[in-house]
Amino acid sequence: MLKVVKFGGSSMADAAQFAKVRDIVHSDPARRVVVVSAAGKRDAKDHKLTDLLYLCHAHLQYGVSCDGVFQMIAERYLGIRDACGLKTDIEGELEALRAQMERGISQDELVSRGEYFSALLMADYLGFDFLDAKLWVKFRFDGAIDKDASYEALQKLAQGRSVVIPGFYGVTPDGHIRTLTRGGSDITGALAAAALDADVYENWTDVSGILMADPRIVADPLPIERITYNELRELSFVGAQVLHEGTVFPVREKNIPLNIRNTNEPEHPGTLIMESFDDSDEADRRLITGVAGKKNYSIVTVAKNGLSSSVSAFRQIAEIFENHGVNVEYAPSGVDSLSFVVSSEKAAPCLYAILGEVQKSTRPDSLKVTENISIVAVVGRRMVFQPGVSGKLFAALGKNDINIRMISQGPDELNIIVGVDTKDFESTIRVLYNSFVK
Ligand code: ASP
Repeated sequence: MLKVVKFGGSSMADAAQFAKVRDIVHSDPARRVVVVSAAGKRDAKDHKLTDLLYLCHAHLQYGVSCDGVFQMIAERYLGIRDACGLKTDIEGELEALRAQMERGISQDELVSRGEYFSALLMADYLGFDFLDAKLWVKFRFDGAIDKDASYEALQKLAQGRSVVIPGFYGVTPDGHIRTLTRGGSDITGALAAAALDADVYENWTDVSGILMADPRIVADPLPIERITYNELRELSFVGAQVLHEGTVFPVREKNIPLNIRNTNEPEHPGTLIMESFDDSDEADRRLITGVAGKKNYSIVTVAKNGLSSSVSAFRQIAEIFENHGVNVEYAPSGVDSLSFVVSSEKAAPCLYAILGEVQKSTRPDSLKVTENISIVAVVGRRMVFQPGVSGKLFAALGKNDINIRMISQGPDELNIIVGVDTKDFESTIRVLYNSFVK
């Protein structure tokens, strides 16, 4: 049994958090591969180490002294080391880094040091080996990860060992450090889990799993116990922020379960994400898995008598959006009208150009733009073949005086999507959560 475990910035923020990580890792011998982030914020006013490192680089670039910021970084890691009673030579590492900064250091290399220091300390604390990500996370020249080469390298390096790996960075084919995008330690963990065919990838953070709705909108939403990769994709697409976007691909490809856990509440099972579940034995028969939504959509509606009998009208209009680099997210249609739902932000710079071209190519009877639309999705694998779910949803919204501007549901019945006026966004999410969950 092998569990690859990744701890985020809040789990690495100070010595007290280090102690929790150690208890979690040592409580299960299967947790032999540990991936860590840089130290995160200890409280709302604190700074993430990675942000301080970016700041250092900006100072260097403009020829301004970064001594003050560097000192903050040094103090944080020296403080953790001393409070954990470790002997790790952080002074020597800091000195070497300082010398390299004098000589010239790339932004990627400098900001990767947050994870590097974290991993050195955690390896020492756990009594595991430090395994540098630059030895196995291999980028291609085009910036993509060379998965085969990376997996092969890690399989050799991690064989029979207990290791701590710094997240967030890897190496280019010509030997330079390159970082993933922000929050990328999630991806390092997923790559390690996939490379080593782990039984589970545990992603330890500061929440007890994915919540069924945004806690800023719904008071105390319940955590999701189990969610499929498809449902997660639906919820993330409409705005639920859970994991770094690229995280799920490596583990999903290998059918490895992903478990989101809370370092501050280690007994909580968190959220389990898998390709599919056998739900038959589950006590929890809730129809929906989650509710999420996004604001700021516009609907362009093109109406013309006889439009439905044109074989090319849809393609012609869609192509105009395509040529302007605006993707059409939903396209509900009437008999003689076609609607195109697009992100207002993406469409704004070219909206009039698009409308002009639609006017010219289609000569519609009317061309209308509806602004301030929000999209809300109710997602749930158990809605399939359950008559009455949409009825319940529409009735609940109707009873609460929420006018539905658009409806979309695919035949896989994984979600029901409604477009509402943005003024009704929060209340729509609350009404749907209350009627399906409470
Ligand atoms: N430390 C990096 C960041 O702040 C990567 C991570 O934490 O996942 O973006």
